[in-house]
Amino acid sequence: MTDVKLTYEWGDGVYTLLSWFKKERVKNARVLVAGAGALGNEVVKNLALFGVGHIYVVDFDQIEFSNLTRSVLFREDDAYNHSYKADVVARRAMEINPQIKVTPIVGNLFSEVGFGLYRSVDVVIGCLDSRIARYQLNRLCMRAGKTWIDGSIENMTGAVRVYSPNISCYECGLSREEFNNIMLRTGCADVVRTQGKAGRVATTPISASIIGAMQVQEAMKIIHQDEKEPTPFKTLQGKMLRYEGMTNTTNIYKFAAWKSTCPAHERWEPVTPGNELSATCTIANALHLLKSILGVKKVEINMRNNKFIDKIISDQPEKEFDVMLPESKLDEHIKKNEELRKLSYRTLFHKHFFENIDETFPYMNLTLQQIGIPLYDVVEVSTNKGVFHVELTGDANLYE
Ligand SMILES: [Zn+2]
Repeated sequence: MTDVKLTYEWGDGVYTLLSWFKKERVKNARVLVAGAGALGNEVVKNLALFGVGHIYVVDFDQIEFSNLTRSVLFREDDAYNHSYKADVVARRAMEINPQIKVTPIVGNLFSEVGFGLYRSVDVVIGCLDSRIARYQLNRLCMRAGKTWIDGSIENMTGAVRVYSPNISCYECGLSREEFNNIMLRTGCADVVRTQGKAGRVATTPISASIIGAMQVQEAMKIIHQDEKEPTPFKTLQGKMLRYEGMTNTTNIYKFAAWKSTCPAHERWEPVTPGNELSATCTIANALHLLKSILGVKKVEINMRNNKFIDKIISDQPEKEFDVMLPESKLDEHIKKNEELRKLSYRTLFHKHFFENIDETFPYMNLTLQQIGIPLYDVVEVSTNKGVFHVELTGDANLYE
């Protein structure tokens, strides 16, 4: 008989466990979970039970009563209080396992989460309900060189797909029609489009449990991957696992799309650390610091995930409105302002925006954060010596 020695510590106790499980590695792991709905609840719960040391949960949404039937971490009070999903998921997960840290980020995963955070995690788990969000998450993960594990659920079915640089890419797998639809929603730069919420998909707590569990199992495999020491696992990298609850069938399909012409494969490397740089710096100070860090005479920040809008102009009647906000906050601004909201039903707004920030930018005393560059981000900088990527490393301690 083989002697299998399996131990697992929880608090002061030692429990039996699994031969493959490396406690230290899991304790030191950092996982970013994008989306805190039904799937996100299951995923974070499982990561907490495994003892994954630091989990980041990103979601901009508030809890509604309809979420309660399939979200294990939400309570009725949370819906009454309109609490943010990310906040509640983080708090409850730390109740499940007080030894871990869960950091909530209330905001958009593309424009309001610093790229430094994407670079710092071991793996990203997507618990999203729209193609646009998947398209955006894929772009960030490819830029950062990270594997991301996509889960989707509908009714009694669900799927897990694992995308990794040089193996498989979400954007490469899109049909032309799907791609065009995404471009229609995201591509038009100067006209305001209020983005409706993604359509509700009918689903059950069972599909969320099954798919969320499979996603975390894949994440554990990625966390245990080791170049020196081969692991016993088969991962779903470049594959799709599809579960069909009606007939109890599970199938694995090859799903590896990687086209050499795809614009999503742009890897941001190397990244220059900017130890004094923070998103709380003013534009004037940031431009000055960037010049000194890069040793160049001329710098221009290229905003790749957001824009700064100083005003919008309505078509009928033709009228200007001061906005002074990042594009990512514009929808919310229009909905909160009665005049703008009424106008938005019957006319188009044109944006007056800035996306390349240099010495001619008229609002030098605003901070990077105020124009739409999040904490711990990496900024793309065009200079007289070429293009650089510089991290706002001064913010890194906020995410330790
Ligand atoms: Zn691609």
